[in-house]
Amino acid sequence: MVDLMASLATASTALELAKGAKAIADKLKNAEMQVQLANLMSALADVKAEAVAKATRIAELEEQLALTKAMTFDGMVYWQGEDDDDREGPFCQKCFDDSRKAVRLQQGLNKYHPPWKCLLCNSQYGKGEPISAGARRASLRPSR
Ligand SMILES: [Zn+2]
Repeated sequence: MVDLMASLATASTALELAKGAKAIADKLKNAEMQVQLANLMSALADVKAEAVAKATRIAELEEQLALTKAMTFDGMVYWQGEDDDDREGPFCQKCFDDSRKAVRLQQGLNKYHPPWKCLLCNSQYGKGEPISAGARRASLRPSR
């Protein structure tokens, strides 16, 4: 990362030097030198833009790596932190494995639904209590 930032600074300096040289060439009215320096400035601007794009991508990857290192998988869902008392989450396994998104799971509506649901991909984790035939019938009857 440090080398890329140094390259970016060098490209910026080279671009400024080329702009200064082109200003001198403009004063001297040397058309061939003006064209060469304009081409040099364009090439340096491309180098600088590429360095910025690579630095941005590296920062994104470093952020993803830090997030991946912070996550622990319990066999069903992800958590941030190792200590049970001080961990955050749970986070959706599918979203994290697919796209490295740490999506917080929401608690189920009641005890008959799986305890955790992802509102992004609709994955559900865990098992709710099984619904007995009597409870199912009772839930279909209008309450009095
Ligand atoms: Zn999800």
